[in-house]
Amino acid sequence: MNSFALSSALPDTPAAKPKLLVVDDQPINIQVMHQLFAGEYQVFMATSGPQAIKLCKTNPPDLVLLDIVMPGMDGHEVCRQLKADTETRDIPIIFVTAHTDSDQESQGLELGAVDFITKPVVPAVVRARVRTHVTLKQQSDLLRKMVFLDGLLGVFNRRYFDQQIETEWSRSQRSGTPLSVLMIDVDFFKRYNDTYGHLAGDDCLRSVATEIRHVLRRPADVVARYGGEEFACILPETPLVDAITLAKTLEQSVRALGIPHSSSDTAKVVTVSIGAACKPPIGSGTASDLVSQADAQLYRAKHLGRGQVCAAEPQN
Ligand code: GH3
Ligand code: MG
Ligand code: MG
Repeated sequence: MNSFALSSALPDTPAAKPKLLVVDDQPINIQVMHQLFAGEYQVFMATSGPQAIKLCKTNPPDLVLLDIVMPGMDGHEVCRQLKADTETRDIPIIFVTAHTDSDQESQGLELGAVDFITKPVVPAVVRARVRTHVTLKQQSDLLRKMVFLDGLLGVFNRRYFDQQIETEWSRSQRSGTPLSVLMIDVDFFKRYNDTYGHLAGDDCLRSVATEIRHVLRRPADVVARYGGEEFACILPETPLVDAITLAKTLEQSVRALGIPHSSSDTAKVVTVSIGAACKPPIGSGTASDLVSQADAQLYRAKHLGRGQVCAAEPQN
């Protein structure tokens, strides 16, 4: 598969233009860069160091073009802080400066910048360098994602889920927003394999995975294969009531796929059972408690007859 086909098969891969962040205290310099790049990229701007750092956290760019001499926090300090933070350290930085001093250049590169460009910029040179570094960044993002992908189903794997649930748990604590988790399990799937064969079983799992991704469409939602025929979903900024609505929609839409399942005791077609749980905006406990709560609700849904949604009340 070529990298384009692969990237379009990946979950959460935006087809949007790459994002550039231009940081310069002089609006005229930003304007020049904007004119150069607006066609090929989404260009974001910051006129100070702190503003740049904030933007890198809230809307991470694929590349930063960073001025060195700025009042207050200078470019070197911005670079140092971005490289020290795990959330932002993989964003490539190119320094753009009027100084052509080689000491300054080596200092910038030692701080972790990928390149150095002098002002006034030569349009063809800047464009080529930016394109090279954005391509490298996208390739490394893609490789990072592949490590976290389930090859059979084209959704994230358990490793990614375990990492991401911790990240989202911390984010939810920090931002005071709710966080929901769904655990989804295919009903009587062993019998499905026994009846229709393992390859048909694989096809069935692919259809269910695709359906889950269709229903959970927010870019921040994570759909992962948790185990054999079990999926786990992370729904950031989603209160329990909305998670339940989504889970019910999902249960109905898997049923509506109409995949025949003659040996199921629940229906004549493939169904799923779903457990939902929500962490309140400021919650105690841990991310794994939340997953356990959703899992306990899944277990309850199984016992109540499968093909249904059960939910835990948020606990403080
Ligand atoms: P329940 O309704 O209680 O969930 O019953 P179940 O039969 O779905 O659950 P059980 O855990 O007993 O069986 C799960 C089956 O899923 C057994 C395993 O062979 C099958 N399975 C797991 N991964 C895959 C896969 O990748 N492909 C196929 N075809 N089957 C798989
Ligand atoms: Mg099952
Ligand atoms: Mg199972």
